Amino acid sequence: MDVTIVEVSPRDGLQNEPVVLPTEAKVELIGRLVAAGARRVEAVSFAHPKLVPAMADAEAVMERVPRPDGVSYAGLVLNRRGLDRALGSGVDEVNVVVCVSETFNRRNQNASTSESMQAAAEVIGRARGEGLFTTLTLATSFGCPFEGEVDPGRVVELAARGAAAGAHELCLADTIGAGVPSQVRDLVARARDAVGAEPPLRFHFHNTRNTGFANAVTAVELGARVLDASAGGIGGCPFAPRATGNIATDDLVFLLERMGLDTGYDLEALLPTAAFLSERLGHEVPALLPRAGTFP
Ligand code: ZN
Repeated sequence: MDVTIVEVSPRDGLQNEPVVLPTEAKVELIGRLVAAGARRVEAVSFAHPKLVPAMADAEAVMERVPRPDGVSYAGLVLNRRGLDRALGSGVDEVNVVVCVSETFNRRNQNASTSESMQAAAEVIGRARGEGLFTTLTLATSFGCPFEGEVDPGRVVELAARGAAAGAHELCLADTIGAGVPSQVRDLVARARDAVGAEPPLRFHFHNTRNTGFANAVTAVELGARVLDASAGGIGGCPFAPRATGNIATDDLVFLLERMGLDTGYDLEALLPTAAFLSERLGHEVPALLPRAGTFP
């Protein structure tokens, strides 16, 4: 596989939709994604159910997902309690999130960025000890809805701490979809200086302002081999209520495969997922490929 897509629609997508899907529909979505070739799926979040009610059934979802060989399921984890839940749920990976922006982290996790980073380092160490693949995601790496521009030096400083803590992967996330390709280039160069080639970088782009696909292509051209995307482009941005969600898996697979890069997805199998999501969520999804069709 040239580029591995981490399918985040069941977590980042559904978490930001106004309609909360029942467990059965989440499991069906995940089953469809896996049948279409998804090999890494961020299926659930172990954030506190009071904070993220749409993900309260994480354990029930994990009990029912299909388990073919080669498919790895991830759960999002914010703290030690989240890790305890993750360890009991059967996930293969944990995605530990720290927000680079101090204000954003305080609002999201009720702690300073340093405190969250310290907790993340412990969670990563423990998860590794339990044999789980670990990702450190640095949220708001490209901009913050409260503070505006985010210091790229701070991003790579936290990335270096994640690497030192033993994270298998570092994910730079454009949480609010404000990033542009020159920022991707700058962050990749700085991260290579500060961290080196290992652990590898993964990118998480939102298409809030239509820059997500340009950012994705830039990351791939700079050597990134793991990108997050959401089937149908579902989800949104809590800070831009009418905005679209993550970059759409459908459109990203088309783009990368037509560039000659293997993603492991079968587009024909994936495309009907957009109609399924539209029906269950009660609105058309932002992805364009399901409307236009494939080519040639
Ligand atoms: Zn996101």
